[in-house]
Amino acid sequence: MASSLRTKLRIATTVLGARGFWDALAGRFLWQPLTPFAKPEGVAVSAAGGGCLRGALHVHTCTYSDGAGTIEEVMEAAKAAGVDFVLLTDHNTMRPKADGLEERYAGQTPFLIVGDEITVKGGAFLLALDLPGDFEFAPGQDPQVAIDAILAAGGLPLVSLPDDMKHPWDAWDATGCEGLEALNLSTVAREHINLLSLAWLLPLWKLKGELAVLRAICTRPDASLASWDRLLAQGKKQIGLGALDAHALMKIGKKKHPLPSYENSFRAVTTHALLPQPPGTLWVPILGGEGRRGEILAVHQALRAGHCYFAYDCLGEIALDFSATLSPSPNPASQDWHPEGTRGAGGRRAIMGDDAPLGSMLIATGPETALLRLYRAGEGIVAAGKGSLSYVADKPGAYRIEAYLVGAQRGPLFVGARPWAFTNPIYVGS
Ligand SMILES: [Zn+2]
Repeated sequence: MASSLRTKLRIATTVLGARGFWDALAGRFLWQPLTPFAKPEGVAVSAAGGGCLRGALHVHTCTYSDGAGTIEEVMEAAKAAGVDFVLLTDHNTMRPKADGLEERYAGQTPFLIVGDEITVKGGAFLLALDLPGDFEFAPGQDPQVAIDAILAAGGLPLVSLPDDMKHPWDAWDATGCEGLEALNLSTVAREHINLLSLAWLLPLWKLKGELAVLRAICTRPDASLASWDRLLAQGKKQIGLGALDAHALMKIGKKKHPLPSYENSFRAVTTHALLPQPPGTLWVPILGGEGRRGEILAVHQALRAGHCYFAYDCLGEIALDFSATLSPSPNPASQDWHPEGTRGAGGRRAIMGDDAPLGSMLIATGPETALLRLYRAGEGIVAAGKGSLSYVADKPGAYRIEAYLVGAQRGPLFVGARPWAFTNPIYVGS
């Protein structure tokens, strides 16, 4: 067979085999229909206390690895996009921290947190947070060796790009990993930008701009959520994050293009870290340091505790609250039992990431336009509209909320519903 025909056949097989092709063919971008679960009695409860910081997670620069922009350009873009912080994770290096970049941006908005993206054997990736600036690790080693090294240095190991098209994570048996990128914008983009979808994404890009294209491909990251739910069903506590893998570079054909821009990536997906107090009150002195902002510590604590949710912010501003109380109350703050007093000292209320006793009332609140769906380790339990859901957790398990921006309801289907935000679980009866 002539080699050109073989190449054409190979390309055709690759395109036909990609999930994004069939999604495009089925018009999933436009419709994204949802079968509703049973509707519970809604109990509206407003969110209590605390602060929230929105971060652009998993970003690369040309200063330290293979991104398109310098650190200054990244921070300018983050400022324009209106995020509160950037988590820089250049490949296999903590040098930005050793070089004092966290201090340089301390006391500013956005501020900078330095992490690391470590390449393991086979080409898969680990995100490593909260590491010291002198941490060094040779890439390409066994995943378990990498996880152990991160833990030994006091860091937080998380699976990065679990469903990367080229190098998906397959070391799910490794122990010590504390979570994963349950949503990664690059993975979503690679799945959905293909020859077929370009036929209408390109005109959309020309007419409405790059952010409109990113909005169009906001789909539920089924595979990554399934991996997360599988771990949760095994009784493991696992942190879920929304990340970008932002390089501001995309390979189309043989050429690399500066797409999507840092700014639009930062507008598209962020992780919302929930803090015990309003952000402005979190300044703490660091021993021997220059007085680094307490927000960096607070963000690390929030992510470690799973006190966070992640969202497609480009679909609209969203504030999502998910908590557990022993019984419904008009004043949830008075029933706060959070063990660390995250929401009110000596409290009696659990928030996402926390434990709660069996029989707790789970309460989720979001925008009026949101449909909320409650899952227990991957199983759809209940759904409710108008941004308000409550449910008595009658079985042990990890309960989490997915919020959808609802278009219209046509019979049993929510037509045009877009996945909007995803909370970390509340662990009931664990
Ligand atoms: Zn990356």
